[in-house]
Amino acid sequence: MDNCIFCKIAAGQIPTTPVYEDDDMIAFNDINPAAPVHVLIVPKQHIPTLADCTPNHTALLGKMMLLAPRLAEQLGCGYQADGTGRGSGGFKTQFNTGPDGGQEVYHLHLHVMGGPRPWRGQR
Ligand code: AMP
Ligand code: ZN
Repeated sequence: MDNCIFCKIAAGQIPTTPVYEDDDMIAFNDINPAAPVHVLIVPKQHIPTLADCTPNHTALLGKMMLLAPRLAEQLGCGYQADGTGRGSGGFKTQFNTGPDGGQEVYHLHLHVMGGPRPWRGQR
């Protein structure tokens, strides 16, 4: 997709330092982090929003969701269960969809945010 910044990053046309990459997706640090750890999981295929996904995207979405806790663990903000159901650490996963969802980049991406609070603008 021409003029899509995340397509360009996925294609290596804009340099980035991936924290993860495979044939289907790439993950890299958000340029304007809202939390101590803030990465974006981005499919290499251009899909504008979550609302554009179809059952054909089920496996891709599943892979993105399953990567989130693995990356959080790798980046030091994994969730540590303590057996009581509370635990410690942890992270937020977020898809923004459309203007009212706060979406700025119209290439599907999953935010993974974590690390010690407070975060920017949040407790
Ligand atoms: P959203 O509001 O969900 O569309 O989020 C887009 C995110 O992409 C924002 O958090 C931006 O800070 C981030 N972003 C935009 N351009 C870049 C870039 N070149 N590299 C890394 N993150 C970016
Ligand atoms: Zn794109």
